[in-house]
Amino acid sequence: MAEPLEVQSLNSYYGSAQALFDVSLQVAPGEAVVLLGRNGAGKSTTLKSIMGLVPRREGRLRFGERDIAAMQAYRIARLGLGYVPEERRIFAALTVEENLLVGQKEQTQSSANPWSFERLFQLFPNLAELRGRLGGHISGGEQQMLTIARTLMGNPSLLLLDEPSEGLAPIIVQQLGAAIKELKDMGLSLLLSEQNLKFASAIGDRAYVLESGHVRFAGTVDQLLADEEGRRRWLSL
Ligand code: ATP
Repeated sequence: MAEPLEVQSLNSYYGSAQALFDVSLQVAPGEAVVLLGRNGAGKSTTLKSIMGLVPRREGRLRFGERDIAAMQAYRIARLGLGYVPEERRIFAALTVEENLLVGQKEQTQSSANPWSFERLFQLFPNLAELRGRLGGHISGGEQQMLTIARTLMGNPSLLLLDEPSEGLAPIIVQQLGAAIKELKDMGLSLLLSEQNLKFASAIGDRAYVLESGHVRFAGTVDQLLADEEGRRRWLSL
C-alpha cells in the first residue's frame, strides 16, 4: 500500500559542510514528483537523506505513520522505499538474472502484486534478451534499466530515482521514460531527480527546484515550464 512521504525542514551535512537548508517536499501516494537543479544543487543529497545514507540529517521525515528521521537505511528500505542510485552499482561479475535475484533478497513489506522476472522483462524488453549476460558486459542504458529492475524486485511502493537519464543516448532515454511512465500508471509513487527538464516534465506531476541546497520553486510541472525566468535562473535553460 502506497503511503505519503513528507519531508519538512531537512538540513543535511557532510562533516561541517551543510549541503541542504530547510528542504521541504511531499510525495502523495501514486504521485510522480521531480526534483530538478544543476550539478551540486543537492538533488542526490536529498534522496540519500530520505534513505538515511548521509552522515548527518535533521528535520521531519515521515513515510506514512512512520518517523524515518533517525532510522537506518536498511529499515527505511524495508518500509517500501526503493532507491536507485546515480552510480548504478551493478554487479559486473553476476549475470542480469543474478543481479535481479540480489534485489529480491531485500526484505520489504509484502506487496499485493509482487514483481517477477516476467513482469520486469515486459517492462524492460531489452533485459529479457540479456538474461544470461554478465552485468559488466551490457551497455550503460541496459545497466540503468537493470538497476531499476533490481530495485523493483524488492517491491517498493515509493521509488527514488537519481538522475536515471544521465549520460544515456536519446533512444535509451526515450525507452527509459516510457518504462518509468508505466510504473507511474501502475500506481507506484515516484521521486525523480533530474537535470533533463524535458525527460522530467514528461513524467512528473509536480516539481521542486533546488539551488545551492535550497528549494527555489515548488509547483506543478506546467507552472515550471511557464516560468521562463525561473528556469533560466535555476536551471540555465
Ligand atoms: P549532481 O548532479 O552533481 O549529482 P546534485 O544536485 O545531486 O548534483 P549533490 O551531489 O547532492 O548535488 O551535492 C550537493 C552538495 O553537497 C555539493 O556542494 C556537493 O559538493 C556536496 N557533496 C555531495 N556529496 C558529498 C560528500 N560525499 N562529501 C562532501 N560533500 C559532498
